[in-house]
Amino acid sequence: MTEGGSQRRAPLVVVVSGPGGVGKGTIVEALVQRDPGLYLSRSWTTRAQRPGESDGAYVFTDRATFQRRIDEGGFLEWTEFLGNYYGTPTPEVTPGHDLVLEIEVDGAKQVKARHPDAILVFVLPPSRSEQERRLRGRGDPETNVQARLRKAEEEEPVGRALADHIVVNDHLDDTVDAMLTVIRDERRRRDRGA
Ligand code: 5GP
Repeated sequence: MTEGGSQRRAPLVVVVSGPGGVGKGTIVEALVQRDPGLYLSRSWTTRAQRPGESDGAYVFTDRATFQRRIDEGGFLEWTEFLGNYYGTPTPEVTPGHDLVLEIEVDGAKQVKARHPDAILVFVLPPSRSEQERRLRGRGDPETNVQARLRKAEEEEPVGRALADHIVVNDHLDDTVDAMLTVIRDERRRRDRGA
């Protein structure tokens, strides 16, 4: 990772994790819009692009290309999630910026192991029914929705145990406000050298 100038602390690594359908993607988009000091990492995936999903949501790639990048040590973390590979390319952060990763819990665990001072925010849905509604709203086939709901049940206790902060995403603006407060407090603490 590119460090800032000698005057600057190392970039903050903010990991946003949480079960599928919790709204992580919308949250991180709002975070980087509201705070120009944040840089959102773009993941690689072997998952097929969903109809209507933006080309920039991921670097969509095939397994062979993904595997080559693993072999070259080109990922900060990667995992297999419901049959597809997902990974965070080794980040190059512009000096003065902090890094935001939106990843599942296995990846979050790997980032914590490599960067123990990363901040992990685990996001929970306001209710199971709202989570199901959001998952179905993506247009995935029902088998995928069911698989993601089962996966979410597995992820929740792991994420809770790993988290530095837990946020319930009931109202987007409140969630983003709460996360920006965490990030700004942490920046101040680290700028003071604490
Ligand atoms: P989706 O297929 O819904 O876009 O993503 C499935 C899961 O993979 C989500 O929990 C998402 O946060 C996670 N994910 C996205 N990118 C990465 C990544 O680079 N690494 C890891 N470990 N998980 C990721």
